Amino acid sequence: MKTKIVKIETLDEASLKNLEDVAQLIRAGETVVFPTETVYGLGADALNPQAIKKIFEAKGRPDDNPLIVHIGGLDEVEPLVANIPEKAKILMQTFWPGPLTLIMEKASMIPTEATGGLNTVGVRFPDHPIAQAFIKMAGCPIAAPSANRSGRPSPTQGKHVLEDLDGRVAGIILSSDTELGLESTVIDMTVEPPVVLRPGDITVSELRAVLGTVAVSANVTQNIVPEKVSSPGMKYTHYSPKGELVIVKGTPEEIREKITKVLAHYKGKPMTIGVLASDETMGFYREGFIISLGSRNDPKEMSKNLFSRLRTFDELGVEKIYAEDIPLNNETLALINRLYKAAGYAFI
Ligand code: AMP
Ligand code: MG
Repeated sequence: MKTKIVKIETLDEASLKNLEDVAQLIRAGETVVFPTETVYGLGADALNPQAIKKIFEAKGRPDDNPLIVHIGGLDEVEPLVANIPEKAKILMQTFWPGPLTLIMEKASMIPTEATGGLNTVGVRFPDHPIAQAFIKMAGCPIAAPSANRSGRPSPTQGKHVLEDLDGRVAGIILSSDTELGLESTVIDMTVEPPVVLRPGDITVSELRAVLGTVAVSANVTQNIVPEKVSSPGMKYTHYSPKGELVIVKGTPEEIREKITKVLAHYKGKPMTIGVLASDETMGFYREGFIISLGSRNDPKEMSKNLFSRLRTFDELGVEKIYAEDIPLNNETLALINRLYKAAGYAFI
């Protein structure tokens, strides 16, 4: 498939013309990649089952994995859901537009192809001027998962999108690097108390500050909170670089020692090793490809960088990546969730 690629940084007149061209592809039942404040999304008309199928094909995604439906204005949510719980209204007023996906009971107009067969739907109003203008122009809600091939790190830069999807989608909007770098927080509003299914930039503490009690799914806490580690052998292929990624645990001194030992072990051997360190620790290591995730004091910066750093190791042909563990707190939960999944919960 020949992909129509447009570059849009700001919404000037020439850009609006380009945007109209790709919005037209959505109306014709085709797929278009667009930037959001979290990661790039791979979109299609959320009300058109045939169009939705093309998303799964382009990504190579299992069809029981639900998509998030993106809207271009607050008033667009109502027709998509059976009802809006009071607490969901509060979250919309507080955090929309923004990186928060609300799971609600779906209206019949949403096809089950978009929801992985569920009778609930995840809805999000992205805080990105190009995404908003694009959805408005398309004139329909847009179902969009992250615009990566299934299993790969989510795309935070235009070049990641081209690597994974050029030739597999009808259109791509290339723009600046995404601001947040991790996918949205997903919260299930159909249960009481609401449950965070996926952590993201909107933290559990921020949600609790407005809602009171909020639960966090065991899928998130197991294998992260030490006493909840269940089956470490579990094999996931999520967000994964091509090289083998391993998380190095321990006190800062132990982590430094373990990695130094590993690097010494592989020295002179035909194996390309990488270390995912931090600004504060990267100077410790002398061998291999040492890449910083950012400053230890800046979880937002580390989150923004995670997926692109994993792809950088691929570009360098790194076969084994040792990532320093990151201390768990409210601000690092989403980052750790993605990092551990990318490693398939492999720890040393
Ligand atoms: P992605 O867009 O690739 O980040 O994937 C969307 C994710 O949103 C899914 O993998 C689910 O974790 C979540 N999600 C979307 N819709 C629902 C739903 N109806 N119920 C539960 N989780 C959902
Ligand atoms: Mg994804």
